[in-house]
Amino acid sequence: MDTFTGGPVTEGPTTNWAGNITFSAAAPHRPVTWDETRGLVAGARRVRVLGSGHSFNDIADSDGPDGTLLSLSGLPSDIDVDTAARTVRVAGGVRYAELARAVHERGLALHTMASLPHISVAGSVATGTHGSGDGQGSLATAVRAVELIDAAGELVTYDRRKGGDRFDGAVVSLGALGVVTALTLDLVPAFELRQDVFNDLPLKAATDHFDAITASAYSVSLFTDWRAPRFNQVWLKRTESGEPEFPWARPAKEPAHPVPGMPAVHCTPQLGQMGPWHDRLPHFRAEFTPSSGAELQSEYLVPRRHAVAALHALNGIRREMAPLLLIAEVRTVAADRLWLSPAHGRDTVALHFTWVPDMAAVEPVLRIVEERLAPLEARPHWGKVFTMSPATLRERWPRLGDFAELARAADPDGKFRNGYLRRVLPELG
Ligand SMILES: Cc1cc2nc3c(=O)[nH]c(=O)nc-3n(C[C@H](O)[C@H](O)[C@H](O)COP(=O)(O)OP(=O)(O)OC[C@H]3O[C@@H](n4cnc5c(N)ncnc54)[C@H](O)[C@@H]3O)c2cc1C
Repeated sequence: MDTFTGGPVTEGPTTNWAGNITFSAAAPHRPVTWDETRGLVAGARRVRVLGSGHSFNDIADSDGPDGTLLSLSGLPSDIDVDTAARTVRVAGGVRYAELARAVHERGLALHTMASLPHISVAGSVATGTHGSGDGQGSLATAVRAVELIDAAGELVTYDRRKGGDRFDGAVVSLGALGVVTALTLDLVPAFELRQDVFNDLPLKAATDHFDAITASAYSVSLFTDWRAPRFNQVWLKRTESGEPEFPWARPAKEPAHPVPGMPAVHCTPQLGQMGPWHDRLPHFRAEFTPSSGAELQSEYLVPRRHAVAALHALNGIRREMAPLLLIAEVRTVAADRLWLSPAHGRDTVALHFTWVPDMAAVEPVLRIVEERLAPLEARPHWGKVFTMSPATLRERWPRLGDFAELARAADPDGKFRNGYLRRVLPELG
């Protein structure tokens, strides 16, 4: 077992990363020991943990100005790799960039990563964050054990090998079960990838050959600004070193950023240059601002069997969407068993939108998108902006009621509840 002890992660914000949410608490508490953290939790009336603050809604907010907002950024960022077991135990405040470096040094890898490595592991798992790949489950599917401080300040572990159904409920937790102090994750042997970008894939080719296109690499992302029925860019992340065969679009001659006008230097290497998994799976490099920086994001996840219908539905409203869109992305995610995962029980196609930072203008368009995708059983990303009613959420997530029961049992007095949780799960009260 090798232990890496990094310094504290960057000071946390009093707004989220996007700046569209100002947290109710004046400043987060930053304990520096786990005992201090347990004491804070035991003594507080209301507690929410702030991860790296990359969600676009109030999911991480404290419950009003008197609620405690807790940042784990002052705690030791331990990363314990067990090379023989191919697992890593990672502390609650660590970000993927640090984690990826540490496991890569031991010849190991994560099976998937989101578009950016800046986000905290615990915060990403709590919202069901995902990357792309027909065979790849979301980031949360790597979790073997969740260790947390419960409402009484006691340490509780949910373990995949022991926890069965309850474990499946506890991984994507929306922060409702307690303060995650550590997660144990499955790893795979380190691998290399090459990233190739193709331009101008017509929508017709994308819908005619959707399965072949998403199967053409370990991870595939399709980007469109919906100004025309075409995908401006297709990013293939392939484990094979040979030139890709992608007859539906033309190879890019220069590195590209998915958001028009943004510098390609912010992105991980392209043009087919082979390199380590952690430097190819995310689109954005840890040293640079990911995406645009001035934006809102939404994402809706539909069963894969509805992929083509969903793309036609969005094409039907592209004139409403395009003026507010910086970029949209289509990815695939493998089905899983985690109760609140957006890919729960179904192979999934994820339809992502990066909007201009103007919620008043974006909200009516979100309602249109949600209405068009409703017959296709769309589930929203928990960490992005959406307008769906609790009743709709209940229809789309068969285990949402079971999760409410689990949260009530784990936290009968609602110490870890906030406005967001009461909105999406009104029965929590
Ligand atoms: C530029 C950008 C790109 C993105 N790309 C992707 C992408 O590719 N795929 C995708 O699926 N999503 C993506 N997202 C969304 C992002 O992954 C999620 O919002 C994720 O939750 C962010 O993690 P975080 O640590 O910032 O969480 P936060 O927003 O800080 O918190 C999210 C939730 O986790 C809880 N939480 C955090 N830490 C703990 C803990 N230790 N214990 C208990 N609860 C905790 C919080 O209370 C809150 O409920 C992107 C976001 C941005 C800004």
